Amino acid sequence: MEQANENMLTIALSKGRIYNDTLPFLKAVGIQPAEDPEKSRKLIIGTNRDDIRLLIIRATDVPTYVQYGAADLGVAGKDVLMEHGGSGLYEPLDLNIARCKLMVAGKPNVDLTASRGLRVATKFVNCARRHFAAQGKQVEVIKLYGSMELAPLVGLADCIVDVVDTGGTLKANGLVPLEHMADISSRLVVNKASMKMKHARIMRLIDELKVAVDKAKAS
Ligand code: AMP
Repeated sequence: MEQANENMLTIALSKGRIYNDTLPFLKAVGIQPAEDPEKSRKLIIGTNRDDIRLLIIRATDVPTYVQYGAADLGVAGKDVLMEHGGSGLYEPLDLNIARCKLMVAGKPNVDLTASRGLRVATKFVNCARRHFAAQGKQVEVIKLYGSMELAPLVGLADCIVDVVDTGGTLKANGLVPLEHMADISSRLVVNKASMKMKHARIMRLIDELKVAVDKAKAS
C-alpha cells in the first residue's frame, strides 16, 4: 500500500466517464496511472510519479474526501459540487468534460405551478429544494439513488431533478425537460489547507492542466 507523506499529492477520481475524460489531461501533464481502475479492485492507485497517487471513489464522495483533506485534489461534476455545497474546497479549473445539464423533467402535461405540495424525486435534494424555493415553492423532495425517470411514471412524484445529456433517457420514458437549472461540467477541486501547504506544486499542476484543457477546447 502506498503511504501518504507530506510530499505526496493525492487526487480523487471516480471510475467511468470522469476517469476516462480526465486521463488524457493527466497524461498531457506527465501523470500515468500504474494500473487501470476499471480492471483493478484497488482503491489507491500509484502513478509513474512517486509523489502522485490516485484515489478511486464514488463520484458523490469526491468533494467529501477533498473537503477533509484525505485527498488534496479531485475531479467532480458541478452537479455533485452544487449538491455538496463546496465547503472546504476551491474550484480553480473547469475541465470542460462530462458536460450535461441539471434539469427539472416530467410528463409533458404536468402542472408545476402549485406553490406547495409538489413532489420532486431526485438524488439532488439540496439543489432541488434551492431551485424551487427560489421560485417561492415549497416542495416535498423524495430522495432516490437512481432511475429517477421512473418516479413520475408510477405516481411517486410530479417531476424529477436529474442530469440530462442527450435527453434520450427522458424521451425513452415519455418525459420531457421542463426547466433548465444549471450547465454542468467536471471541475478540478482542491482542499483549502492543501492549497496553502503545497501551494507551489498544486499551482504548477493547475497551470499545466489548464494548458491541456485549453488545447482540448481549441481542437
Ligand atoms: P441522456 O443522454 O440524457 O439519455 O443521459 C443518460 C443518463 O446518463 C442520464 O439520465 C444521467 O443519469 C446520465 N448522465 C448523462 N450525462 C451525465 C454526466 N455528465 N454526468 C453524470 N451523469 C450523466
